Amino acid sequence: MELKSTQFKIEARKAVGDADLRSKVKKATGVSLTKRKEVVDELPDWEELRQRGYDLRKVVIENLDEYLRRFIEAARRNGVLVYEADDHKGGRKIIYDIIRRASADSVVKSKSMVTEELHLNAMLEENGIRVLETDLGEYIIQLADETPSHITAPALHKSKEDIARLFQEKLNVPYSDDPAKITAAARGKLRDEFLRARVGISGVNFACADTGTLTIVENEANVRLCTILPEVHIAVMSVEKIIPSFDDLPIFLKLLPRSATGQRMTSYVSLINGPRSLHNPDGPRQLHIVILDGGRKRISNHPVLKESLYCIRCGACMNVCPIYQSVGGHAYGSVYPGPIGSVITPAQFSMKEAKDLPFASSLCGACTDICPVKIDLHHHLLYERREIVNRGYKSFIEKIGIAVWRWMVLSPGRMEFAGRIGWLLRKMLGKSMPAPGWTPHRQFPEIASRSFRSLMKNKSTHGK
Ligand code: SF4
Repeated sequence: MELKSTQFKIEARKAVGDADLRSKVKKATGVSLTKRKEVVDELPDWEELRQRGYDLRKVVIENLDEYLRRFIEAARRNGVLVYEADDHKGGRKIIYDIIRRASADSVVKSKSMVTEELHLNAMLEENGIRVLETDLGEYIIQLADETPSHITAPALHKSKEDIARLFQEKLNVPYSDDPAKITAAARGKLRDEFLRARVGISGVNFACADTGTLTIVENEANVRLCTILPEVHIAVMSVEKIIPSFDDLPIFLKLLPRSATGQRMTSYVSLINGPRSLHNPDGPRQLHIVILDGGRKRISNHPVLKESLYCIRCGACMNVCPIYQSVGGHAYGSVYPGPIGSVITPAQFSMKEAKDLPFASSLCGACTDICPVKIDLHHHLLYERREIVNRGYKSFIEKIGIAVWRWMVLSPGRMEFAGRIGWLLRKMLGKSMPAPGWTPHRQFPEIASRSFRSLMKNKSTHGK
């Protein structure tokens, strides 16, 4: 997967300086968090549900090969054509070949993070296959020639005015920032494409190992149209989307919509078992499922990071993260931004290229607290920081700085001395005291003339 995470510090600095972007991201994430809170607070058993979700994800990831085998067998029994792709290149080729065999030169597509990871659209367009994103957020991003900035709200960084201008320019429709008119304009453009398309591509939210059922949640009915109207449906999923049983689905259907969009339930939940048949005359003639590994099986054997595969892609950890709120999603340079992106991008793709991402966290733990499947995100970030340092990926200056800091804090006397020097410098230089990377945007704070330790020592001496 193409990563731009090496540019994180540069892109983050630019994003922090963009007040307009920050206010849009903050507003959108704030709305999501408020809506989430309302529907989570009404469930007295939310914590038990989270634990149940965690336990079920754990069972699957710790026995991934077995559950994968069960799912594939069940899907094949349902008349589905199943393919396994070890890597991204293999995944792209399988999908391209299916489209070619269907003699299609265009596809309609619903939202799928795995296809983002595959850079599928770019490959298909390069090979003469037109791709039309049908989820409104993805459609906006495609028109703007951008990448998603959030895993559930791809156009979260755009205001309705931005979208109105974009539609005016690209779709030649009168300017209107009325959301109903924006939606109607998109619908008008997309409707005919659904009717014409021979191939529809979708993602998958959950895949039931016992019945082979695919579950896809959505609010716009575009998934329904992508998966039912075309003759051929290609469902693209990654290996960890499997859940043990159809009976476990209600738990995840309580956890996901509440955490992702602050809804008790999404407007549509599609349960797809197979292609059309004598008993079920609706739906596509062929259903293909492409299952991508892309490094996940390797992570499922990792003693710590395997937990990152429990993720159900709700996006709540992004909404609550102070770093994501300040820089938005593009700065991360990965398909997966925010706390979970900062864990899985180094683990799954490249520790070296993504070495700055685990440091993009205040370690406040809000991501861990909000995660519906209880992934211990901030401790995973800490673990990866240690790995990055151990592998020698930090700069020489940083290593020296940390070594000096360590030497200083290991001795109370040296700590005291450093505090006094700092206080003296601050007194002499005032608020303009420089601290690289910090003071260009902030003033240096006051330093107390005496340390807490010496004050306490003094107090206990007087108290005797
Ligand atoms: S890590 Fe948890 S909170 Fe973040 S996207 Fe995944 S499931 Fe949601």
